[in-house]
Amino acid sequence: MSIVAATSGPVDEALRARASTALPKGIYGHVAADLLWQGAPQFVSRAEGSRFWDVDGNEYVDLMCSWGPILLGHRHPAVEEAVERQHGLVDCGNGPSPVMVDLAERLVEVVDHAAWTLFAKNGGDATTLCLMVARAHTGRGTILMAEGAYHGSLPWCCPGEAGVVPGDRAHIAYYRYNDLESVAAAAQHHSGDLAGIIVSPFRHDAGFDQEMPDAEFARGLRELCDRTGALLILDDVRCGFRLAFGSSWEPLGITPDLSAWSKGIANGYAISAVLGADALRGAAASLSATGSFWFAADSMAAALATIDVLERERGVEAMSRTGRLLWEGIERQAGERGVEINLTGHMTMPYLTFPGDRSHRLSEVFAGVCAREGVFVHPRHNWFISTALTEADAAAAVAAMGHGFDAVAEVRDAARLDG
Ligand code: PMP
Repeated sequence: MSIVAATSGPVDEALRARASTALPKGIYGHVAADLLWQGAPQFVSRAEGSRFWDVDGNEYVDLMCSWGPILLGHRHPAVEEAVERQHGLVDCGNGPSPVMVDLAERLVEVVDHAAWTLFAKNGGDATTLCLMVARAHTGRGTILMAEGAYHGSLPWCCPGEAGVVPGDRAHIAYYRYNDLESVAAAAQHHSGDLAGIIVSPFRHDAGFDQEMPDAEFARGLRELCDRTGALLILDDVRCGFRLAFGSSWEPLGITPDLSAWSKGIANGYAISAVLGADALRGAAASLSATGSFWFAADSMAAALATIDVLERERGVEAMSRTGRLLWEGIERQAGERGVEINLTGHMTMPYLTFPGDRSHRLSEVFAGVCAREGVFVHPRHNWFISTALTEADAAAAVAAMGHGFDAVAEVRDAARLDG
């Protein structure tokens, strides 16, 4: 008998078959068929709180939170009510609804470094707008980004090469995360043309053990920017409001000039934001930046409600507490079975790998058994905690993961015997 089910359920299978014709490669993104692990569903039928259900009726504890956006749990009542109220007035209007100003003011109040807010739809819009503000402000071209970092699917930063021409990346240069010398070398190489440095709050590249930022690295970036006049851009799209109630580097005492936000800020509704320092107001105002849906009011109402709930319920602390329970439980389960693991990242965004498992085969076995046991985790991407995850959910997830570690030990022992 195979350790995990070879496929997901029949309804999922039928949808996959249709999608493979109706869409160019079927479903894209993290649940694309070529990335999918055995037993994982591709299609979701509904979601509530800390749980979701696939189209075949299987229930999962959601530890991926839709890749970050679900911060308070699916369909949080306060957020849904705010959206319903706004939707009864207007969502997509000729101009913005008053809620746009309310939200801009609220973000400026909550995030220390911000004096203004610019709204868009996707995280990639926000990171790209940050580059544009930096270039407009400095009159320079080059942006430094970390090798392997993800800042969106746009030609300047997408991980793939197809459809990208060298000109798209002509003004992007690379450094290694947590390696100040590599930053200094890249800055030196482009001295006189350095517009900005974009950095994520921690190294959360897919498929790699995560790295928290060295305080010295973060400080060094700030100093280098101060010295050269380049702008420090914090890509808070993935981490925003999980590491802090404010920008993710506030706990480190590092103030970026610009930050990009999306994912968690509206609990699943599509919106992104650029926040910036007062000195950059003119540069931001000079951009030709707009989009058909950038005034959409439902998602702005959702963001306001999300921020209110997160503040009132001290959500960041709550996620850290549940995340710690999960983290400690995972270590315990693995330890009891003598399975070596690398558990890295932040309490609210953990990631698990197995030493030496470069192909992610063991991670896939683990994630497959977790799916069978009703827990959804991805083998190549950091996981996410929401405030809806209860202690009981975390305990259930830890129990399921025990079966995952059993399976990993079994596969590893079998491989040893074969070898
Ligand atoms: N930056 C980071 C750090 C991200 O994680 C993502 C999305 N995974 C993006 C930018 C791009 O956001 P979006 O997919 O909404 O364009």
